[in-house]
Amino acid sequence: MDSEIIYKEIGKLVKKERRKKGITQEKLAELTSYSLSFIANIESNTHQSFSIHTLYNIANALNISIHNLIPDKPIDKKEYQLSCSNCKYIVNIPKELGKLTEDITLIAKDITFTCPNCEKKILKIKQ
Ligand SMILES: [Zn+2]
Repeated sequence: MDSEIIYKEIGKLVKKERRKKGITQEKLAELTSYSLSFIANIESNTHQSFSIHTLYNIANALNISIHNLIPDKPIDKKEYQLSCSNCKYIVNIPKELGKLTEDITLIAKDITFTCPNCEKKILKIKQ
């Protein structure tokens, strides 16, 4: 499973549980002694990774079990990706949009997309 997805799901749970308790990000930062930006990054998944120990401290501060912060349902895998053959940049496409992109490539087989990273038109669909 993609670790980025796991962190994203955990971040959502932290946000949900924090809001349930009526606690602001500032307050959670204060309770855990972490910085506000660290807490905000965890919740908004700006490529923030963190340890189980961190998660335990957050659960403690929210006065909940750490189990509440761990996703238990199977997470939808990203099914579609565009990969750049120049810089290896990967663009993940949501399932709904991926299907549409697949249909487009069925009609126009050699269609390419512009890479947001190196801006060359070499992105190809990969499943
Ligand atoms: Zn590229």
